[in-house]
Amino acid sequence: MGKLSAMLLASILAAIFTVGLDAQKAESLGSLDVVILDKKNREERVLIRGQEQKTYMSLHDYVKQKESGAGEIIEYKVKSGDSISSIAREHKIEVSTILYNNRIANKHLIKPGQKLTFPTVNGYIYTVSEDSHIAKVAKQFNVDIESVIRTNNLESDKLEVGTKLILPEFSPSSTRLVSRGGSRETLKWPVSGAITSSYGYRMHPIRKVNSFHRGIDIGASRGTPILAAASGEVVYSGYRNSYGNTIILQHEDSFTLYAHAHQLKVEKGQWVNRGEVIATVGSTGMATGPHLHFEVRIDGNRSENTVDPKKFLP
Ligand SMILES: [Zn+2]
Repeated sequence: MGKLSAMLLASILAAIFTVGLDAQKAESLGSLDVVILDKKNREERVLIRGQEQKTYMSLHDYVKQKESGAGEIIEYKVKSGDSISSIAREHKIEVSTILYNNRIANKHLIKPGQKLTFPTVNGYIYTVSEDSHIAKVAKQFNVDIESVIRTNNLESDKLEVGTKLILPEFSPSSTRLVSRGGSRETLKWPVSGAITSSYGYRMHPIRKVNSFHRGIDIGASRGTPILAAASGEVVYSGYRNSYGNTIILQHEDSFTLYAHAHQLKVEKGQWVNRGEVIATVGSTGMATGPHLHFEVRIDGNRSENTVDPKKFLP
């Protein structure tokens, strides 16, 4: 064998070995995506699963991304027979990652055809609400700046409005109102004051009929700051019929609602920490006087899903 052909053979072997190694690595990195051989372009590519449209990536880039710990945000269309647990298993992420990124409080509430958005690593998808810097966002959420950069493959420190960031290993709240074992964590009192009307059936103060009161009323004077009972994302901030000025926060497995506010201090999409001021007490909507109407909802953000907030207050 001539010197030239030996070199050629060596380089071919090296190429085969490298490609094979990448495929092996991809597999060892826990990939459930499908490695395919693109015969036309003579290269191995990876079919990324769970995407609406077929998405391919070069095997080399794929391995690089997996090794760096980077994640991506994907949209998954629920197939018949899927459960949130099976989807989570398939993507090697936690069930809660799917739940809180899709504002689902009950893991049994998904149906075929529904679209779910989640990152391929455990974390919270945060949409940057104003031009910012990584350092600022990392500080706000108390997450490691290096892992934010790594996970999101960021090259610049600047973040533009609308950028979707994965905050790795971060969940909207550690407040799981009803955990699997049945144990409960407490909420913070949103205002301090006496409960003037309890949860349950009562004579409606304005309508004068027996009706179900879906929250508790806490008496406080107009302008008293209303605090977030737990950390979470603002999913509603605005006027809502009899509720008046209302804030709804989403937590890991639940929602809290604050009604009849005088002023709303936070906007939809914003993140608030436990104890942060979100509004002030008022009497907007159907209210006889200034008070906070406070609701806790589990198993979905619907008025029929309320539970007695007193069970979760210290
Ligand atoms: Zn009320």
